[in-house]
Order: sequence, then C-alpha cells, then structure tokens
Amino acid sequence: MAEEPIVFSVKNLVKYFSVKAGFGSMFAPERFVHAVDGVSFDIRKGEIVGMVGESGCGKTTTGRLLTRLETPTSGQMLFHGTDIGKLEGRQLKEFRRKVQMIFQDPYESLNPRFTVYSTVSEPLVVHGIGESYDEREEMAARALESAELKPPEEFLYRYPHELSGGQRQRVAIARALVLRPEFVVADEPVSMLDVSIRAGIMNLMLKLRDEYDIPFMFISHDVSVTRYMSHRIAVMYLGNIVELAPSEDIIKNPMHPYTEALLSAVPIPDPKAKHGRVEIRGELPSPIDIPPGCYFHPRCLYRRGLCSEIKPPLREVTPGHFVQCHFAEQIKTRKPDDIVLESGNCAVCGRPVAKGTSSVQCNCPKIYHTDCASQVKGCQVCMKWF
Ligand code: SF4
Repeated sequence: MAEEPIVFSVKNLVKYFSVKAGFGSMFAPERFVHAVDGVSFDIRKGEIVGMVGESGCGKTTTGRLLTRLETPTSGQMLFHGTDIGKLEGRQLKEFRRKVQMIFQDPYESLNPRFTVYSTVSEPLVVHGIGESYDEREEMAARALESAELKPPEEFLYRYPHELSGGQRQRVAIARALVLRPEFVVADEPVSMLDVSIRAGIMNLMLKLRDEYDIPFMFISHDVSVTRYMSHRIAVMYLGNIVELAPSEDIIKNPMHPYTEALLSAVPIPDPKAKHGRVEIRGELPSPIDIPPGCYFHPRCLYRRGLCSEIKPPLREVTPGHFVQCHFAEQIKTRKPDDIVLESGNCAVCGRPVAKGTSSVQCNCPKIYHTDCASQVKGCQVCMKWF
C-alpha cells in the first residue's frame, strides 16, 4: 500500500462537544467532551484501515468527521489535498457525493416507508444524477447486483420489513455504492447481524474494495473482525490513536499496553487452550476529565513517573509501526500466543499459586499472589508495574 497515492490525510484532528450546564450552574466554566483529541493518519487508495477500541473511544466520531457529518473543532482532513473541514454549500454537497457511510444498524438506517428502489435511488435524486425514472431504476438495479441482491427486479419494490437483516445491510451497501464513492466509512457494519451472515457481508465489502479500489475506514470493537478486514489497524483510546500498524504486525507484536490488554481479551477458538488475561486497572476515565500526561496512565501496569506528567507523541517505533508510549522500546508486552494461565510459586513469598486463584502474572513470566504483588512495586526484569 505504501506506493499507492494518499486519498485522506488526517492531521491533528480534534472534536470537542460542549456539555451544557444546568440553569443552576450557568456561571460555571464551560466543559467539553474530548471525543477526538488530536489524531493523525493517512488512508491510501484501495486500503482498508480498521479502527478498534472500547465504546466511547472516539472511533465513530472520527468516521463521522471524515464524512463531514460532524464539523471538526480543529485540525485538517485533506481529501485529495483539499481540507474538507472548511467546505460549505455546493462544495460540501459535491464532497458528500464522493464519500459514503454504511451504518451499524440496518433496521434503523433504512426508512420503513421507502421501497428498496426509493432508498437506493434517493442519493441520485439529491445529487441530480439520472435523466429519468427509468435511468435511475437501471442504476439502482446495477447497485443491487453489485451488492449481490440478485436478480435485482425481485428486490427493487420490496419494503425493509420484507427483507432479512443481511439483505437490509446489502441494500444499505447498494445505497452507498450507487454514487460510485471514492471513500467509504463502514461503522460497525456487521455487529448487528447474525454470525452466520457476517462473513457474507465482510466478503462482499472486500470484493467491492478489490473491484473498485475504494479505500475504506472500517470501524469495529471486534479485533478479530477488524484483523480479517483491514490492511492496517488503528487502536483508539480516549480520543487518541495509541497504536497504528499493519494488521498482522499489531496482532502478533502489540507494543502499547492497552493493545496488549485488548488482544488478550479475544477468545481463542480452541477449547483446550489455556488463555489468560492481561489485566488493566479500573474503568475508562470520563472524556470530560481527561487525565494529565499519558491518557492511559491511571490504568497502565507499566507506568512510571514521567507518564503522569507528559503526554507521549504517536511515534514510529519500528518501520510503519506507530506507538503513543514513552517506553514502547523498553516494555515487553506479552504476545497473544504467549498468554497462558501459569501456575507455580509466588515470586515474592515462594508459596504455590494455585491455578484459577487470584494472581498477577508479569511478562517474564513470573507469578504473584495478588496480595504479594501489592507489596512490591513491580517486576524488575520486565518492568511491569503492579
Ligand atoms: Fe502511557 Fe507510560 Fe503506560 Fe506508556 S508506560 S502507555 S506512556 S502510562
């Protein structure tokens, strides 16, 4: 992908939402939800970039900014070199013709009173494409065929309630494709679908990417699905990209502690595998009260003094692998394949730690009773902080 031209170049993109205070606090300072807090990345022609992270991390807001459903607070979004954050009027309408979004819930995103024809041809009407009803019907039928709803005549005049979940999502994809977009944001496009039809929709999107060379941003909370779909994966945390790398690189060699924990939560499809979890502390902080320094430091098991004072930049640690961590080169994150449930003797008290009991494991791997771990600051070998 490196030699393909850049379609989207996002630089230090920020989106804050104002939190309206009640009447009683009208003189209190205005507060903001930091939904997207300075993300930068490029998307190249034909590339699929996956965005993963827990709910509220800012991945959907990033997608909505790139389609200009939201206006950025600051930063640049260069689409073929034009900053689309500043577009208005006719120019914005022309940009929207080139960029489309597939939404999460096909039960909500289709108007129940519209036939499939009305839904798919509506963007053509809005943008004044097609001379006559017949021409638009032909274009809608071709889009349905591309979305593998065949024969299209069977579907054109059905209503959403006459379609299955998978067929509805194919109609949503046809609606996005009918304008021949140059960029598509797919926001959790399979999370509302049965597992049995997910693979069909994912393979359809991959086929369309191959046929039309359309770059995609694929948003999901499911790491396995994102790995299957994407060339590169960006891991988001509290409005920041904390790690960005080619998919296989990030899965096999996570370098940020948050990515390490995220990957350890992915189930292994092998009932005999003994799979442990990399724990992180506490809950996701409020995006209104952002922690100082590294946003992940209150939950990070590797944190040190500097982490609570200075926010680390997203930097290239190995070629093409970007990490937002001061100590990315020093900390030894565990790879998903290495995370197994260990038993043995506690590295502090020397007594046995039984399998399945409350314990802490570091990256050496040593094992500690939870109580014993709280008495020591961390492992001197792998630098994991308890
Ligand atoms: Fe952030 Fe420090 Fe943890 Fe790196 S080690 S993720 S900089 S808290």
